[in-house]
Amino acid sequence: MKKGNRLPERLYALAMWAVSVVFALFLVGLGGLVINDLPRKAGDVTYKPIYPVEMTRRQVALRDERAAIAAERQLNDVALEAAQSATRNAREGFQAWLETRKATTDPRQDTELLTRTAALERLQQAEHEVTRRIEALDQRRHIYDASKAQLARDLEAVDEAYRPVFQRAVFRAQLRVFAIRLAFTLPLLLLASWLVMRKRHSQYWPLYRGFVLASLYAFFVELVPYLPSYGGYVRYGVGALLTVLVCVVLIRNMQSYLARRRVAEADSEQERRQRVDREQAYAKIDRKICPDCDRPIILVDGLETNYCVHCGLTLFEHCSRCETRNLAFNRFCLSCGSASLGHRDKTDEASRDAPPLESA
Ligand SMILES: [Zn+2]
Ligand SMILES: [Zn+2]
Repeated sequence: MKKGNRLPERLYALAMWAVSVVFALFLVGLGGLVINDLPRKAGDVTYKPIYPVEMTRRQVALRDERAAIAAERQLNDVALEAAQSATRNAREGFQAWLETRKATTDPRQDTELLTRTAALERLQQAEHEVTRRIEALDQRRHIYDASKAQLARDLEAVDEAYRPVFQRAVFRAQLRVFAIRLAFTLPLLLLASWLVMRKRHSQYWPLYRGFVLASLYAFFVELVPYLPSYGGYVRYGVGALLTVLVCVVLIRNMQSYLARRRVAEADSEQERRQRVDREQAYAKIDRKICPDCDRPIILVDGLETNYCVHCGLTLFEHCSRCETRNLAFNRFCLSCGSASLGHRDKTDEASRDAPPLESA
């Protein structure tokens, strides 16, 4: 598609850009749906170390032991409290009885003294028994703590050994996700590059351009962020590879352009001038560039520049009727409106008698 300098043409070019963008948006939406429907499980990796059965058993046994100790300790605490209060009551009762005995000093009461003393001792004995059981439980508790610490160390060792395995699994999952996305994006990118190289001048280019925009979006948003980094190797490697690719394409384009120019410059001035696009010629001469060979137009003060010094293309010529200096690409003389400019192919438009243009 060539850009003209007529207002409707410029508006049309703008509208076509809008069409390209809208088309790209629809394609991006569609592509997003497709990507979402791709297998999602591929990227899921769960941290799942395999503990030996023996460790799992020890874990369960320790949990039971802890519960048993806690339950027994609670029972014994209650028993100790009961025993302590029983002993306290008995001792108080005995003390009161002794006071009465001192007051009365009845010898018949000696046997009762022995009985009461023995009963008190039995109660104290029971209290000591409960205290011993609690001490034994505390001992069990220490053993439990030590076993628990040992189990934690063993589990940690298993985790330690599993971590590299897990990291490898994560990396493989990332590669899988990337491969799936690449399989979806690569054909789009290849097709887009082909369109850019071969269909740039097609009249349907606005649609192709939309497709190219959508592919670029797919590449940068749906693919690049999923490049597995693997310590940066993959990312930098792919970056370097792409740079080389772009460089090769640019160099080859430049070489084929130069080759085309060499062939084109061998043609006669007449042929070359007819090949030049008039709209582009005006724009290029405006920027002081030869419309055919793209080299700068040489300007010297006090001299008319009528030809490109590099390729000999006629840039300006004098009207054959009124001698006014005209751009060689004007179809009609800007002064007299004559179609018969010096180099003009007479069969082309000499018969036309059109009104003069207000500007060139
Ligand atoms: Zn030139
Ligand atoms: Zn004229």
